[in-house]
Amino acid sequence: MVVAGRQGAGKGTQCVRLSRHYVVPHISTGDMLRAAVKEGTELGRRADSIMKAGGLVPDDVMIGIVDERLRGADARTRGYLLDGFPRTVAQAEAMEKIAVDNALDLAIDLDVPREMVLQRLSGRRLCRDCGTNYTSTGYERRPWLCDVCGGDIIHREDDTEEAINRRLDDYESQTRPLIDFYESRGLLVTVSGVGTPDEVLIRLISAIEGRRRGPGAGPIVGG
Ligand code: AMP
Repeated sequence: MVVAGRQGAGKGTQCVRLSRHYVVPHISTGDMLRAAVKEGTELGRRADSIMKAGGLVPDDVMIGIVDERLRGADARTRGYLLDGFPRTVAQAEAMEKIAVDNALDLAIDLDVPREMVLQRLSGRRLCRDCGTNYTSTGYERRPWLCDVCGGDIIHREDDTEEAINRRLDDYESQTRPLIDFYESRGLLVTVSGVGTPDEVLIRLISAIEGRRRGPGAGPIVGG
């Protein structure tokens, strides 16, 4: 399964919750890149400035990372939930070659209007260690620590107004074409991301379950 949507549509949070619900690995390319930046690897050094500017890391790099990750025993046996990949048609085409035995069986477009995304992103915060997403109310206790792992909650470096706008523009030109791509393959489900996190999660699960019960529906996860 793959979950896509504009930046700030809440896909990170919902993917964490869905992966717990279905007990499948949550494969977030953004988290993998942030870990590489933190560790100072060659990939991290290459990706760092691109991410800060709100750009897209080159397709060949991203395809290599995902290819390797999907070879992991967990993804081969349990299936997987991809978060933030594919983001371009070239990545989606490569995905069809990478994942043959454990092909994608569902693509979810989490739909949130651009103005609402801008509003949400200004309050978005992230755990430095485990990547859990939070929304700031402005009244948090300091230091603000993660409920899941106790790590520091930070403001993402790529959540500046300029980088956010660039990412939203890239979404329109590079990622939105994936809606037609997956629709033409009969894999697309669009779910509204407007509402509280719990409301959206229930909507997502019922969309997935509806798909599972549908004619010819296979397992909800690849594999
Ligand atoms: P995310 O956490 O999914 O919002 O990703 C954070 C940043 O990582 C993005 O703004 C891109 O710079 C980079 N990134 C993550 N996934 C991809 C991808 N599939 N293709 C290109 N760049 C990516």
